Amino acid sequence: MKKALVCGAGGFIGGHLVRRLKADGFWVRGVDIKAHEFRTTDADEFLLLDLREPANCARAVDAGGGAFDQVYQLAADMGGMGFIHAAECEIMRNSMLINVHMTAEAARAGVPRYFYSSSACVYRDMMSDEPDLTEDDAYPAMPDNEYGWEKLYSERMAMAYQRRYGMAVRIARFQNCYGPYGTWQGGREKAPAAICRKVALAGDGGTIEVWGDGTAMRTYIFVDDLVDGIRLLMESHLEGAVNIGSEQRVSVNELVASVARAAGMKIGMRYVDGPVGVHARNHANARIRSLGWECRHDLDAGIAKTYPWVAEQALLAAGEAQS
Ligand code: NAD
Repeated sequence: MKKALVCGAGGFIGGHLVRRLKADGFWVRGVDIKAHEFRTTDADEFLLLDLREPANCARAVDAGGGAFDQVYQLAADMGGMGFIHAAECEIMRNSMLINVHMTAEAARAGVPRYFYSSSACVYRDMMSDEPDLTEDDAYPAMPDNEYGWEKLYSERMAMAYQRRYGMAVRIARFQNCYGPYGTWQGGREKAPAAICRKVALAGDGGTIEVWGDGTAMRTYIFVDDLVDGIRLLMESHLEGAVNIGSEQRVSVNELVASVARAAGMKIGMRYVDGPVGVHARNHANARIRSLGWECRHDLDAGIAKTYPWVAEQALLAAGEAQS
């Protein structure tokens, strides 16, 4: 039986990835600094470890007789745009320490295959009518925020370890990802979850606050499609960074409309100042598509699977707060 290690298994995408690896027949160790907030883990073993510490990274990759066949590094100090702007020191320090030590300890332990979760935040700001950026267009580098700079540096570090130690490294640059069992409140949530929460709490005919003027263009990927891409990429021969995202570009206004459709509600919007982030992100997905990958969920299909879960959490929490 093949063995996989998932770092960040107590988080949103890591939690979904553990489930997929189990379905794919792996024995899985999950590692995180905290347990999953929203469900019990599917991992065969779950270790609570702070991966900023080198000794904990060494413990994580120690499979006890033979190395892990695959290591997936998704642990990061991260959140939506509000958090990315408010916590740039924490993001640069904590995520960098995790990646410095995880990459080195995985190479030292002889891990044959290492996955690193990068982000579309490595790209510069764009206008919505610009042609798609390919992976090579990350250079000359001008990420819009420090989170993107940390990702770019950690990509390069992983590739340097590949060159020196022969550890096969696979790097995906994720788009904004959404789905059930992800952070939906508290300041780290991303726009789809935040809007699902606001709509659920506003109720039919209500009005929600939206950061900016609603025109920023984004693409959003449903978590099952992203996990499909991660698994395909990890089993492939594709070296260098690979974008994984949907080509359905929507404005923030259209995202709100999609959530309102899923909720079956009429929702008004009030635009307020907030950390909106880049104007647009247009990046090409030809590399991941070359592996036969398809984005199976359009925004409405993904939101239809996400809204009920976020709404249930939000209404439950609101009810508990009242009682
Ligand atoms: P998440 O915050 O839900 O998961 C990250 C996990 O890392 C958390 O469970 C957290 O507890 C853990 N972690 C943080 N510090 C740690 C430490 N010191 N030691 C051990 N574990 C620690 O985020 P996610 O959305 O699941 O993102 C997973 C990865 O994908 C991250 O690297 C993120 O940067 C990247 N990514 C996510 C998105 C997205 O839209 N969600 C987009 C681009 C890239």
